Amino acid sequence: MSKNKGSESVKVVVRCRPLNRKEESNGPAGGIVQMDLRLGQVILRNPRASASEPQKTFTFDAVYDASSKQRDLYDESVRPLIDSALAGFNGTIFAYGQTGTGKTYTMQGVWLDPEKRGVIPNAFDHIFTHISRSQSDKQYLVRASYLEIYREEVRDLLDPNHGTARALELRESPDTGVYVRDLTSCVCKSIKEIEEVMNVGNQARAVGATDMNEHSSRSHALFLITVECSQPGPDGRKHIRVGRLNLVDLAGSERQAKTGVQGDRLKEAAKINLSLSALGNVISALADGRSGHVPYRDSKLTRLLQDSLGGNAKTVMVATLGPAPQHYEETLTTLRYANRAKNIQNQPRVNEDPKDALLREFQREIARLRAQLNHRKWRSKQKKEQVEGEGWERDGDEETEGEDEVEVEVEKEAQEYVKLEEQRLEREKEAIREDQFLLAEEKQRLLGEKERMMGDLRKEQEATEQLTAKYKAMESKLLVGGKNIIDHTNEQQKMLEMKRQEIAEQSRSEREMQQQMLVQDEETLELRETFTSLQQEVEAKTKKLKKLYAKLQCIKAEIQDVNDEHVRSRQELEQTQNELTRELKFKYLIIENFIPPEEKNKIMNRLTFDPEEDQWKFQPLVPAESKSSQMKKRPTSAVGYKRPISQYARVAIAMGAHSRYRAENIMFLELDMTPPNTSSLDRSTEAEQNQSRSVDNSPTKDRGVRKSRSWCQTPKSIASSSSNVSLAACHAATPTAAAQ
Ligand code: ADP
Ligand code: MG
Repeated sequence: MSKNKGSESVKVVVRCRPLNRKEESNGPAGGIVQMDLRLGQVILRNPRASASEPQKTFTFDAVYDASSKQRDLYDESVRPLIDSALAGFNGTIFAYGQTGTGKTYTMQGVWLDPEKRGVIPNAFDHIFTHISRSQSDKQYLVRASYLEIYREEVRDLLDPNHGTARALELRESPDTGVYVRDLTSCVCKSIKEIEEVMNVGNQARAVGATDMNEHSSRSHALFLITVECSQPGPDGRKHIRVGRLNLVDLAGSERQAKTGVQGDRLKEAAKINLSLSALGNVISALADGRSGHVPYRDSKLTRLLQDSLGGNAKTVMVATLGPAPQHYEETLTTLRYANRAKNIQNQPRVNEDPKDALLREFQREIARLRAQLNHRKWRSKQKKEQVEGEGWERDGDEETEGEDEVEVEVEKEAQEYVKLEEQRLEREKEAIREDQFLLAEEKQRLLGEKERMMGDLRKEQEATEQLTAKYKAMESKLLVGGKNIIDHTNEQQKMLEMKRQEIAEQSRSEREMQQQMLVQDEETLELRETFTSLQQEVEAKTKKLKKLYAKLQCIKAEIQDVNDEHVRSRQELEQTQNELTRELKFKYLIIENFIPPEEKNKIMNRLTFDPEEDQWKFQPLVPAESKSSQMKKRPTSAVGYKRPISQYARVAIAMGAHSRYRAENIMFLELDMTPPNTSSLDRSTEAEQNQSRSVDNSPTKDRGVRKSRSWCQTPKSIASSSSNVSLAACHAATPTAAAQ
C-alpha cells in the first residue's frame, strides 16, 4: 500500500512460538495469543481481564502460529526480499521481541536440521542457487561481514582479536550511507564458505560472553551480505548492481530490571535501553510522519538501520511473541511496536554503478594481470624465436592462441622455453668443461656465468608462476552465472520450488484481498441496509451502536494502556537519570577535590566533542595546521654523527667533558691493565688508609676499595691514575668513532 510512487511500507509479520514445557506445566491457562492466518490477524487475550472485556486485535502482512514451518515464513515473507537484493536493492530483515520468543530461532534456527534452518541459512542457499542458475554473462561477487553491538559499541565478529580489539567507528558517505569503518568483509565463493564465516562469528560471540544467553539477549547481531552483479547492458558496457542485505537479530526487548544496579551494569542497562528505546523513537517518529526530526543519531543501532527505516531499502520486520500469560504486557508492547512499524514508508531503489563497487576493482585487477601475463607470453615467445634463430633444435610446432586459455598457454610456453634454455645452458657448460684450451680460471668464470643465467631463468619462471596463481585466485573469486557452483537440484526440484513460490505468492495476495474486503464490508454495510419497519431499524441501529460502543471502549482502553506505558517508561527514564546524576556527582566530587585546578583546566581546554563518534576526544598537543606538520619531524643528524646532537654536546665531547653528552660508545670496553687491588683485613691500618685517601685521591693508592670506572668519573678526579690514559684516549677517539 504505497503512498506515492517508488515508496513502499515496511512489511511486518508476527510469529508466535509454541508454549514450552515450563510454561505448559505452569497451569492450564493455555496461550493468550490466537491467530487468524487467513486474515493475518493476531488476537490477544488479557489473562487478568474479565471475559466480557473485548480482546485486542492487530492486523499484519502475515502471521505465523506455533505450528508454522521455517520454510513457510521464508518462502512467503523473506524470499521476495532476497530476490530484490539480488536485483540490486538494499534489504533488511530484523527480528524483534522479548528474550526467548524465537528471534534467534527465526533468524538462524537449527543448522543441522534442514526443516528448522532459519532465515539466514535459507538466504545463503537462495543467493548461491540464484547465481548458479543465472545467465553466464553475469558475474557476481559475494561478501559477508558480521558484527555485534554490545553496550553501544560496534564489534567486528570476524576479527581474530575480537575480544580485545577496539570498538569500530561508524562513518557516513553520500554514496553508501552509514557504514562501519575497518569492518572485515570476506569474499565468499560458495554456501560452505559463507556458512564458515557465520560460524566463525558465532563462535566469537560465544567466546566473548560469559553467559551466552545473558549476552545474546543484550547484544544486537548484524550479518551483512553484499552481492555485486555485473552484466553487460544494451550499451555494451558492463553495469554493476549492488544489493546489500542486513540480517539482524536484535537484543531482547523486555525491560531490564535496573533497580540497585551500579557501575558497569548500570551503564549496560542504560545502553541497552538506549538502543532499543532509540529504535522505538525512530519507529514512532517515522510512523507518525508529522515530526520532521527522526532521532537516528541517538544510538548505533538506529544509525546502522537508518537506510532500512525510512530510507533506501526494503524492510521486513519479524515480531516474535511468546504465548504465555505471564508475559502479556511484553507481548502487547511488541504488538504495538510492530503495528506502528507498518506505517513506515521506505523509498527503495536499485543501486546501479556505485563508485565503490568492489567488483569493478576486481575486474580491473584481473584485466591488469591478464595484460601482464600476455606480455610475458609475448616476451617468452620472442626469446624462443631467438633461440630457434640461433639454430638450437626443438620440436617446434606453432601453438594456437586462444584468449581464454591464456593462462594455460603462458604456463606451457614458459615451461617449454625454460626447458629449452636449460638444455642449451647445460650443453654450453659441458662444452666449456671439455674445452682443453681454456684456462682453469677462465673455465670457472664461464661456468659461474652460466649458473647465474640459469638462476635468472628460474627466477623469471617463478615470477610467471606467481603471477598466474594470483590471476587465477582473483578470477576464482568472481562467480560466473551458471558456471561456478554445481547445481545439485534437478529439474523436478526446480519446478517444485517454483510451484511453492507461486503458492506463497497466491496466499499473500489472497490475504491482502481479504483484509481489504473486511475494511470495505464495514463501510458498505450501512449502504446496503434497508429497513422494512421502524422496529427493525431500531434493532439494527442498536446493534450497530453496541458495536461502535465496544469499539470506543476498546480505543479508550488502548489510550489508557498507552498512557500507563508512557508513565512507566518515564518513571524508568527518571530512575536512570537519577542514578546517572548520582554517578555524575560522585565524579564531580573526585574532580573538584582531588585534581589540581590548573590540571583540570588544561585537560578541559584540550577536550572536544566528536559528534560523529559521540565521544569526547583530546585535541592533539601540536596544533594541527596541516596534516604533515602535525607529527613533529625528527631532526636530521649532524654531519658525521649517527644521531642528532646539539652544538653544546658536540663541544662538550670535543673538550672531553662529562660523558653524559656522548650519544654512543658510552661504555669503556678497553681492558683494565692496572693490577688488581687486594687488601688484607687489617683493621689497624684502616684509619691510616682513610686518612691517606682523603689527602690523595688517587685510586691506585686506594688499596681497601676495589676500583671501579663508572662513566660518571670525571677526568679531573683521576688525573694521576693509569686508567686516565685510556679514558682520555677514548675521549679523543670518540669523534672519529662516531664519524664511522
Ligand atoms: P530469542 O533469540 O528471542 O531470545 P530463541 O530463538 O533463543 O529466543 O528461542 C528460545 C527457545 O524457543 C529456543 O529453545 C527455541 O528452540 C525455541 N523456539 C523459538 N521459536 C520456536 C518455534 N517457532 N518453534 C519451536 N521452537 C521455538
Ligand atoms: Mg537470541
